[in-house]
Amino acid sequence: MKLPVNDAQRRAAIQALERKIPRRRLASYPTPLQRVGLLSPADGGPALWIKRDDLIGFALGGNKIRGLEVMLADATARGADTLITGAGVQSNHVRATAFAAAHAGLDCIAAYWGKPPAQIDGNYRVTTMLGAGVYFTQDDDRASVDAAIEALAAQLRGSGKRPYPIPRGGACLMGVLGHVLAVCEMYQQCAELSLGPDAIVLAVGSGGTHAGWLLGTKLLNLDWPIVGYSVSRDPAEAILQIARLANEAAAWLGFECGFSAADVQVEGGFIGPGYGIPSPVGAAAIKRLARAAGVLLDPVYTGKAMAGYLNGLGAGAFDACGNVIFLHSGGEPAFFAGNGEWLNIHPQVL
Ligand SMILES: *Cc1c(COP(=O)(O)O)cnc(C)c1O
Repeated sequence: MKLPVNDAQRRAAIQALERKIPRRRLASYPTPLQRVGLLSPADGGPALWIKRDDLIGFALGGNKIRGLEVMLADATARGADTLITGAGVQSNHVRATAFAAAHAGLDCIAAYWGKPPAQIDGNYRVTTMLGAGVYFTQDDDRASVDAAIEALAAQLRGSGKRPYPIPRGGACLMGVLGHVLAVCEMYQQCAELSLGPDAIVLAVGSGGTHAGWLLGTKLLNLDWPIVGYSVSRDPAEAILQIARLANEAAAWLGFECGFSAADVQVEGGFIGPGYGIPSPVGAAAIKRLARAAGVLLDPVYTGKAMAGYLNGLGAGAFDACGNVIFLHSGGEPAFFAGNGEWLNIHPQVL
């Protein structure tokens, strides 16, 4: 496999990838890449940049839009009439899928683990308002969603519909390809700024995003280490899933990358009380970034990943870095779900 070694070759590789990967654009790009004044070199740490995928201008933004642009192109090419997916009730992915389906004139069905929630708030409010059909597995095991997606798809096929099932959380080959295109986008942005990041920091859920960044940086031959912080799975499990997804997407593109666990860095220790449950250090990171940089993170993914990064910074893990780019993958609607007790706010009433 011949990798690009200079800017002209990288741009040619990007053009080839853009021709090959189907995409139905839902927003305009690039998203901003902003330098934030938090922990600047004056504080002894690397300069921090934020890739603002939370500002993707469709469906409240977030990384899931990038994957869905590829899936939507694939779904419509196959003549699908219904998008089916699933996750937890506050899922950003399900909300984004419901918007994408509405936009494309398709039906949408969501399978959620567990039972219906008491409150119709946050992402669930948006998803149901859009008219998505919702199904609850009545089982708190997150994996129960996988069988439900299959069963709902089979039921629809039986009644003559053309469902397009999207795996839980959007973690699939097509989604990974959307994140490969994100790397292409950010390479061009960095080239304009003459910025060579020493690390890319991101939150890891089902791993599709990390897989896309791993594959994209490999295909462009960029020496950008990807540092993931897991917010749901045991890191060892996340690493295997990321390597598998990256290899699958590479094969689809016609490359043999042979990613193994040794090629993937995912840190643990920042899940807190559990997936989807805010953590105290995550809450502290959210407050810190909001006050210092005017950027709102989310309690489920980016707040916890930022807590991990700040901890790594304190421990010297980024001492050798001049520039770090943090991927803000969105998720703010979850900030507005529930009573917000986890933030421990005491309004300054004057
Ligand atoms: C889904 C999600 C992630 C993680 O992406 P994966 O591809 O599932 O690892 C990160 N941040 C936000 C806000 C998300 O919604």
